[in-house]
Amino acid sequence: MIIFKSINKLNKCIENIDNIGFVPTMGSIHNGHSSLIKKSKKICKKTLVSIFVNPKQFNNKKDFINYPRNTKRDIRILRKLNVDYVLLPTYSDIYGAKENRLIKIPKINKILCAKYRPGHFEGVLRVINQYLIKLNVKKIFLGEKDYQQLKIISNFVRKRFNVKVIPCKTIRYKNTFALSSRNKLLIKDDLYKLREIFLILKSFKLRLRKNFKYRYKISDIKNLIYKKGVKLEYLELRDERTLSKNCKKSNFRIFISYYYKKIRFIDNI
Ligand code: AMP
Repeated sequence: MIIFKSINKLNKCIENIDNIGFVPTMGSIHNGHSSLIKKSKKICKKTLVSIFVNPKQFNNKKDFINYPRNTKRDIRILRKLNVDYVLLPTYSDIYGAKENRLIKIPKINKILCAKYRPGHFEGVLRVINQYLIKLNVKKIFLGEKDYQQLKIISNFVRKRFNVKVIPCKTIRYKNTFALSSRNKLLIKDDLYKLREIFLILKSFKLRLRKNFKYRYKISDIKNLIYKKGVKLEYLELRDERTLSKNCKKSNFRIFISYYYKKIRFIDNI
């Protein structure tokens, strides 16, 4: 495994390799990230993982400061996974000295997280744009855990780059809540709360599969979640291809965002 702290040096090493899989991350590597890496290793000649906590995608400074970071541990895990290249870029390496152009997301996408985290996806697209302009990669691996992000990046990349987006299934803790770097901000007992929320969503989904009219009971489900002591931001059913509210029994997904202990969690099932 070769670790690079500069994109230029990395590029010199990889410029003649024609099938590199890229897994961008913000670190605090967990099994969700590992699944993306394993998928890349299966179908690409070489795998590149980046670790960069991108300040531009945080609309809340405290959230950025508190985001868990542990590069030494991450490197150990990536070594065990036999990753070929790791990129640990600096801010100026990615964004350069002068501010680059703001990327707007279409108005139609200003729903779910985009509604509650203004500027978040613009920040995500900025870093992805910089990576893909600068790096010779053919495939980029993204998790369904961040489903709206996956959709927005896929549309963006399809229009601008000759890079294939490979979606990867959400990895869960013992088949319950989604693994997330933010889980590291909790103690073990707190994870039961995330599990309870997941179980409410799961039983809601099962009911909807049997009878889609149950969607009109969504306010009951919201109340159940409130009673668990978390602050719900949104709970919505949407079409899984278009993210439109106009969804059917055959193509819906449940999207949730909530705060627990002032930490923001998202999931979709
Ligand atoms: P992050 O480090 O949170 O920016 O995530 C980096 C990539 O890993 C993104 O494409 C995420 O969607 C993906 N990811 C994060 N958690 C999971 C998970 N539990 N299962 C699958 N993919 C995940």
